[in-house]
Amino acid sequence: MATIPAIALGALVVLLVGGALGVSSKKPEFLGHPKGLYVLFFAEMWERFSYYGMRALLIFYLTKHWLFADGQANFIYGAYTALVYITPVLGGYLADRYLGQYKAVLFGALVLTAGHTLMAFEGTGGQSDPTINIFWLALACIVVGSGFLKANISVIVGQLYGLTDTRRDGAYTIFYIGINVGGALGVILAGWLGETYGWSYGFGAAGLGMLLGALVFVIGKPLLNGNGEPPIALSKVREWAIYAIGLASIAIIWVLVQYQDVIQDLLLVSGIALLGYVLYCAFRLEPHARDRMFAILFLIALNPIFWGLFEQAGGSLNLYTDRYVDRGGVPASLFQSINSLYIILLGSLFAWLWIALGKRGLEPSAPAKFGLALVQVGVGFLVFVWGARSVGPDALTPVFFVFMIYLLHTTGELCLSPVGLSAMNRLAPKHLASLIMGAWFYMTAVGNFVAGKIGEATGGHDGEMTKEATLAIYSTIGWWTVAVAVVVLIVSPLITRLMHLDTLKDVK
Ligand code: GLN
Repeated sequence: MATIPAIALGALVVLLVGGALGVSSKKPEFLGHPKGLYVLFFAEMWERFSYYGMRALLIFYLTKHWLFADGQANFIYGAYTALVYITPVLGGYLADRYLGQYKAVLFGALVLTAGHTLMAFEGTGGQSDPTINIFWLALACIVVGSGFLKANISVIVGQLYGLTDTRRDGAYTIFYIGINVGGALGVILAGWLGETYGWSYGFGAAGLGMLLGALVFVIGKPLLNGNGEPPIALSKVREWAIYAIGLASIAIIWVLVQYQDVIQDLLLVSGIALLGYVLYCAFRLEPHARDRMFAILFLIALNPIFWGLFEQAGGSLNLYTDRYVDRGGVPASLFQSINSLYIILLGSLFAWLWIALGKRGLEPSAPAKFGLALVQVGVGFLVFVWGARSVGPDALTPVFFVFMIYLLHTTGELCLSPVGLSAMNRLAPKHLASLIMGAWFYMTAVGNFVAGKIGEATGGHDGEMTKEATLAIYSTIGWWTVAVAVVVLIVSPLITRLMHLDTLKDVK
């Protein structure tokens, strides 16, 4: 068993040494891309190491340590991951207007380190243990830290390239692979440590990873070529005031994360406000730029469906794997790394595929890729349900079908997520770049919340998950999503026209 974490550690060392050698050589580029890309790669790799390492353990920590019922644990999980992706809107806004992306990312990284470290305080367990308040505080820090970091680091990637630079999509693919190298290694190490030696070891490993991410970002700053600096001169007073607001918001989220029902209303109200603001900005733009904003809105509107299904992974699917899958003694949380491993294997293949299809004029448009993504995430569930039922109601589900559902979800993700990041960056006017990236993550937040709701439903009336009820829910969401996907594919040519790719110009 210990071989898997050993391989993970080995891979990490190779990556770090290789990366350090490449980035420290005198040439401005490494493997055909600006070196700054690799700084962002490694910084985000460590951030995702901590995020996914912690996420793999979270549902078990909630059910087995704090003793929440399955349904409630799924809901808390969904509410927390939703908050993680809501806050990048504010972090994006503050960076666009005042801080610039660099300072925002660094502040976020420090708050995240604090959050993951606080996760290591486990107390005695059960909801009457006062230590649970430290747990809520830890979640709040991770939420706020992600708000400052996630969208902004994704924006700096794009800033390294001109708008018409054809390496841009490839850059996002490389960055996305970094995300998943971190995701895979974090899950394997934190999942293994957490489920074998104790929760605090797993969460502690996540914290250490985040600290390394912050270090990479500071040491590699010169390679970012001045990108991500504040848009206008930033006084020290204003800068510190923003950090103070960030810290104060931890207190607010600390309360909020304990009242998950309120988050639903918050999503609704802030979603409408955000939509209103984006429309207001859109109508002040020239016609083509405005049309692009509509295309952006269409694309991000699909996020809740995609991530609502996809994010069952860390919640109900994780519990299902623990209880109803024949996993040969492998800790369930380790299966959370399959998705990331597939991305590492298939990410470059997809990047190559788009280019190869593009050369023949056959590359699907971004909206069509989104339609394909929805087909796959839906069919993933249908295949899983079919496989689970094919062995009869009492037999454990063969682990093959866990690999299958994650495969289809991953190929779906590759049609949507890196494509979406790149499209947001390309279609948004420069002065709204971080806000739009924030809006993108905001809609994945809605998706995470939907995922929590679906997960809560798999808990049934008494809050305890049952196999057949879960499979019935998986089947319903699978079919509905395939139906939506067909509609998306049909309208995709119209949306592509709104993107006006022919009139995109470099503004750098
Ligand atoms: N797996 C990707 C990441 O962690 C995408 C997640 C998302 O957009 N919800 O960045």
